[in-house]
Amino acid sequence: MRYEVVTYDYPRQGGVPDGRRPILDVRAAVVVQDSPATSAVSGGDQRYREVFWHTLGRMMLLYFVPLLLLAAFFHIQYVRLTRESRRAHLEVIAEQQAKTFDLFLRERLANLANVINDPEFPRTGASESGLRAFLAELQEMSDAFVDLGVVDSRGDLAAYVGPVDYPELVNYRDQDWYRALLAGDRQSVITEVYLGFRGRPHFTIAVKPLRNDTGQVLRSTLSPEWLSNYLTTLEGASEVQAAVVNREGILQVTTAGSGELFRDSLFVPPTESNRGSVTGSAFPAQYAYAWLSETPWALVVMSAPGQGAAGVAGLPGGTFMIMLAFFLLMGVVILVRARFLAGQQVAVQRHEAELSGQLVQAAKLASVGELAAGIAHEINNPLAIIAEEAGLLKDSLDPELDEDDEEPLDLQEHVDIIHEAVFRCRDITRKLLTFVRQTDVRLELHHPHRILDDVLGGLLGNELSISGIEVVRQYDPSVPELVVDSNQMVQVFVNLVKNAMDAMADGGVLTVSTQNRGDRTAIMVTDTGCGMTAEQLERAFLPFFTTKAAGKGTGLGLSVSCTIIQNLGGRCFAESTRGKGSIFTVELPHPAT
Ligand code: ADP
Repeated sequence: MRYEVVTYDYPRQGGVPDGRRPILDVRAAVVVQDSPATSAVSGGDQRYREVFWHTLGRMMLLYFVPLLLLAAFFHIQYVRLTRESRRAHLEVIAEQQAKTFDLFLRERLANLANVINDPEFPRTGASESGLRAFLAELQEMSDAFVDLGVVDSRGDLAAYVGPVDYPELVNYRDQDWYRALLAGDRQSVITEVYLGFRGRPHFTIAVKPLRNDTGQVLRSTLSPEWLSNYLTTLEGASEVQAAVVNREGILQVTTAGSGELFRDSLFVPPTESNRGSVTGSAFPAQYAYAWLSETPWALVVMSAPGQGAAGVAGLPGGTFMIMLAFFLLMGVVILVRARFLAGQQVAVQRHEAELSGQLVQAAKLASVGELAAGIAHEINNPLAIIAEEAGLLKDSLDPELDEDDEEPLDLQEHVDIIHEAVFRCRDITRKLLTFVRQTDVRLELHHPHRILDDVLGGLLGNELSISGIEVVRQYDPSVPELVVDSNQMVQVFVNLVKNAMDAMADGGVLTVSTQNRGDRTAIMVTDTGCGMTAEQLERAFLPFFTTKAAGKGTGLGLSVSCTIIQNLGGRCFAESTRGKGSIFTVELPHPAT
C-alpha cells in the first residue's frame, strides 16, 4: 500500500490563504522572541503596513467594486433612459412645429386664394395700384408676404407690387412652379427657396382662381428670414435648433446654429416615415424630423448644445455630487475600519507568533532531550580518554611510582590527546548549544549535503552507529547551495532521521538522498522501518499527533519541520507502506539567479 500526503502549500511570505494558516509561523515567532526591542518595533511597523494595505485592498474590493459596478449599471440605464426620453421629446417638438408650420403655409395659401377669388379682383388687366390694396390686406394678415404679382395666361408678370424692381418683361412660362400649377389639379403651389430674378433667397407661393377662365395666376413671395424668425417662436423652440429641409436635404429655412441656406443639412430625413428621430455615432447630436403636408419639406429639430446636458459622466450635477460624497464617505469609513482591523490582526498575529515561538522552542528542546542519550555517549568517550590520560600523567608525577626501568612518559603526547578530547567535547556541546539557543532566523546559502553530513555524522552519528542501522547516502552532485537557516534545517533533518530510527527499532537501512529537480532540490529520508497506516499517514503532519510512548514523542517534529520548509517556500510530503517503510521528502526552491 502506498499513501501520499500532500501538505499545505503556503506562499513564502505572509499572505496565507484564509483557513489554511500554517500550523506554526516560525519566522514571526523569531522576530518576537529574540529581536532587540527596536528591530521588533520596526518589524512590527512593517508587518502592520503589510496587513493594513492588504486589509484595505480587500475591503475596497469587497465594498467598492460591487458599488462601482452597481453605479455603472445605473448610470448606463440612466443615460439610456435620458436619451430615450429626450428622443421622444424631440420627436414631439418636431411634430408640433411641423403641424404649426404647415398650418401657417396653409393659411397663407388660403389668404392668397381669397384674394384671387375675390369678386372685386380684376379678372384681366390688373394694375399696380389695384394690387397695392390687396397686398396691404395680405400683409395685415401676415408680415410674411413680401410682394404680390399677377401672371397672365402667357406667363408674363402682368402687374407687380413689392420691393423688387423687375426688368421690363418677366416671364414665368418656363418656371417649374408655374408649369406645375397650370398643369396640375392643385389650386396652389409652394416653390423651393431660390434666388430667382431678384438674386435673393426667397420662395414663392402661387394660386390660380377656382374658375380659371382667364388663365391668370396670383403669386406672392415669402421671406425666408421672416420664416426663420417664425420658427424661433414655435413651441419648444428654446430647447432645439430647427430648420426646414427639402427631400434632397438642402436647407430651406434655418435658425441660428442650424446651418446656412442652400447648404446640405447634416441630417437628411428619411422619406419612408412621416416622423422619426435618429441618434448615433454618425451624428453629433440627436435629430427628430416630421414631414410637412403642404410641401415636400421636413421640419428638422436638433438638441440645442447644452440643452438637457448632464453633469460629469452624464449625470446631473447634483446626483453626481451626492454620489461623490457617498463614495468619499465610504472611503473614509473603509480607511478607518481597515486601520482598526489591521491593528487587531497584527496584535492577534503577534500573540500567535509568541505562542508559535514557544512551541517551536519546545519542539526543539524535546529533540534535544531525545538527543541527550546520544550526546552523553558522544561526550563520554572523550571524557574517558581524558580521565585515562590524566591518570597516566598523575602517575608519572607520583615519585613513589617512579621506577627506573620504565621509559619516561612522553608528556607532550598525552597532553595532546587530552587536548584533542577536550576540543571534541567542546565541539559537541557547542553544536548542541547552537541548536538549542539560536532562534533568530539567518537565511544564508548553505549546501544541504553539508548540513545532512553534520546531522548524520555529528549530532546523530553516535546514535546511528550503535543502532544497527546502515546509513546510505545518495547525494546528487548537481544539487546547489540553498538559501536556508542551517539551524532550522538541522532541526528538520534531526526530526526526520530520528523518526526513521524510531521506525527501525530492530535495524534496517536509512537512505538519505538528494535530487536536483530543476528549480528545486528534493531531499529524501527513506527508511525500511514499520511504515504507517493510511490514517497515521494522514495525520502524521498534524501537531501533537504521535504514536510514540509518553515521554518519547511530542507529535511536534513533523508539523514544525513542515512549517519551517513552507516558510522557506518549499513543501514536504510523505509516502509510506505499512510494514515496509516510509519516504519523507522535503523540496526546497533553488535561489533566484
Ligand atoms: P513524534 O516523533 O514526536 O511522534 P512527529 O511529528 O515527528 O512526532 O511524528 C508524528 C508521527 O508520525 C509519529 O509518532 C509516527 O507515528 C509517525 N512517523 C513519523 N515518521 C515516521 C517514519 N519514518 N516511519 C513511521 N512512522 C513515522
